[in-house]
Amino acid sequence: MFPEALRVRLSNREYTNWIKAGQCLCFLAQGLQSFIDCQMRDFHAHLLNQNTLLRRPCEKDCTPRRNKLLGACRFCSEWQRTIHGHHRQPQNTINWNNCLPVSWRTDHWEVAKAFMPRGQEKVRGADQFDASALLNLISSCDWFHLVDPKPVREVIRYRNELMHSSDFHVSDSWIKHYNSALRNFILQLRDVAPMATAEEQINQMLQADLSIHVHGWDQTDLDDIVKDSVHDEISVDSIIQWEAELLQQRLQELLEETDDSNALSAEELKDLGSFFEANNDLGAHFSSQLQNLNLLRKSE
Ligand SMILES: [Zn+2]
Repeated sequence: MFPEALRVRLSNREYTNWIKAGQCLCFLAQGLQSFIDCQMRDFHAHLLNQNTLLRRPCEKDCTPRRNKLLGACRFCSEWQRTIHGHHRQPQNTINWNNCLPVSWRTDHWEVAKAFMPRGQEKVRGADQFDASALLNLISSCDWFHLVDPKPVREVIRYRNELMHSSDFHVSDSWIKHYNSALRNFILQLRDVAPMATAEEQINQMLQADLSIHVHGWDQTDLDDIVKDSVHDEISVDSIIQWEAELLQQRLQELLEETDDSNALSAEELKDLGSFFEANNDLGAHFSSQLQNLNLLRKSE
């Protein structure tokens, strides 16, 4: 039998919209990964061909501190200048903290990370980057100059709205606009084969009904409630996993933002803690994080 709190959550259409929209971003990331991996390999090879200084190893184990890379050796400084020169919006902050400069020479993903939002320090390998990281890379790096940045930034905007939706709800009309934004972006990459799969998965997801249907409701004997599997193709276990991953991502982001003394994120973090407490199945899943959140609250 499924936890009652889960059934109640999934009977809320706007909450299931929130989960579905989050899962669409996972499909989008999967569709992009191999394409971006090839592109960044080519970009990296191009940079090494253009500038022999970039082929030289780091001289003093240069390491970024507090998102800055100061006093780097001459070869890492050359990499910094090069990366900066390839930013489509050079006025934006570059998250040097994401990168291991000693690996710029040999690892194309370490270069890619300089075009991504923060929090990528420990991410390694194409399949580990989420949609936000990959979309920001496309939007920020001029190697993707053939991709119109407007539809990319539109998807990023929707993604940020989703992650900061105060009550974990999004409306049907929001989903409609989000779907158009995803389509406009995918259209840009129609020649990338895995994107066709992603498009199909996104279509199916947005049409799916994630509510758990209850048959034989009997007020006098709750144990007799028969709960059905949601859908022929989608198991409840999958939904539970998608929900947990999306909540984990939101928690992670809010923790990072709260670290930066962002008052709004601290409020959202409290709301998330209350949401875990009010839903005992989530409270159990996120028990260790909930303990840390309670410690944070007490320390205020
Ligand atoms: Zn160096």
